[in-house]
Amino acid sequence: MLDELAKLEEIARRLEPDPEQRAALNRDVEAYASQFLDALPGLKTYVADDPSTAPQPPAIADEPVGLAGALDYLACAVDKTGINPASGGHIGYIPGGGVYTAALGDYLADVFNRYSGVLFAGPGAVRLEKSLLRWMGSLIGFPEGAAGDLTSGGSMANLAGIVAAREAHEVRAVDVPRTVVYLSGQAHHSVEKALRVAGLGECVLRVLDLDERYRIRPDALAAAIETDREGALIPWLVVASAGTTDVGAVDPLDALADICRQHRLWLHIDAAYGGFFVLCDAAKALLGGMSRADSVVMDPHKGLFLPYGSGAVLVRDQAAMHKAFNYQAHYMQDAVQDVATMSPADLSPELSRPFRGLRLWLPLMIHGLAPFRAALDEKLLLAKYFHREIQKVPGFEVGPEPQLSVATYRYIPKSGDADRFNKQLIDEVQKDGRVFISSTRINGQFVLRAAILNFRTHRDTVDLTIEILADAAMRLAKT
Ligand SMILES: *Cc1c(COP(=O)(O)O)cnc(C)c1O
Repeated sequence: MLDELAKLEEIARRLEPDPEQRAALNRDVEAYASQFLDALPGLKTYVADDPSTAPQPPAIADEPVGLAGALDYLACAVDKTGINPASGGHIGYIPGGGVYTAALGDYLADVFNRYSGVLFAGPGAVRLEKSLLRWMGSLIGFPEGAAGDLTSGGSMANLAGIVAAREAHEVRAVDVPRTVVYLSGQAHHSVEKALRVAGLGECVLRVLDLDERYRIRPDALAAAIETDREGALIPWLVVASAGTTDVGAVDPLDALADICRQHRLWLHIDAAYGGFFVLCDAAKALLGGMSRADSVVMDPHKGLFLPYGSGAVLVRDQAAMHKAFNYQAHYMQDAVQDVATMSPADLSPELSRPFRGLRLWLPLMIHGLAPFRAALDEKLLLAKYFHREIQKVPGFEVGPEPQLSVATYRYIPKSGDADRFNKQLIDEVQKDGRVFISSTRINGQFVLRAAILNFRTHRDTVDLTIEILADAAMRLAKT
């Protein structure tokens, strides 16, 4: 037995590289990352995938492939194809970021691997995360005692907010078909998914009329609630957006909050994209109504330029969140009064989870808030700038002035089908690959979008985008 143990130990110890091996691994990984970042300005933003030639990952076997082999595979098969979200040229979907210092936070969190799910197990880690949630709460004007959770993203955060709403309103399964949820046709699809996952898929969904800038019309909401009440339905939840993904529209949050208060409905605000613009003076007034929500979703992996994997939900009434997610029914339910003593696991569907706070906290410590704020202000201005400049190119027409950092536009050809032309236009831009733009359908029309949120996007990228669009449109118009 001792021999056997010794043999096993010797092999198992390979999981703990010695200092020299560690230094070598770190050096090679760091060199790889540096090479990627140094080459980034010249890399394409979009490279079409070809599944028929895509290399297969090395087999997983008892014998190692080794770091060099693994990095080779990443280089040839992973970090080159598809959209490159690290590129400043990504102005297609709401871009993610990837500030380098967040990776260092992840690195440290993974090395010391503190348990951030339970206060007793990782008090320092949990407190650090709570301080971040309190900070976010203060940004949006939430009271001190609000609860929150750092999630993997906006979809999970929407789910958590909706489940908290369900618990607060005690929506019972038998009543679901009579309950009414109000939202905009612009609401992110993760909201409907969350309703379904939360067992609310059978509820009545009222898709409200929008104004000319794609915002919910408060009168439409008020009228729908009246009608539903008269029809013996149970209105209970309004989902508003602070920055729709499609066009960046901010619903009239204050007016919606008034109506929700009057009718005692839960106001959930999906600010996954737009929430952190509250740091900008230019957007403060627009987003002020977030302070009156019952729950708010914000995505640091969008508005704070973190790598993917960082969302947040904030819930004004910590009891609702606790009721939704606590896992020890016997555990001093009545004694729990203070959000400071609750564990993340009592406020989240997750138990064991990564120590997500560090990837957000470390960049804030290293850079301070100023460059984040400046980058967000810059994005607001760049969207306005794009909107102004693309109109000057003959043939292009634009949607409404951007409320945040998304601009919509399209080319109107002298003859032929505009939808088809714009589809071809986007194909041309993608083939070029230097920038990545996207499209959507608005009122049945094929419309192009510029969604500007990458911290690496600056004026030169926007000028380049306009140049590429102008050239491609001219070429297409001649054919
Ligand atoms: C991106 C987005 C989501 C979904 O967030 P993920 O982090 O991608 O899960 C939800 N709502 C809005 C408004 C978004 O922009």
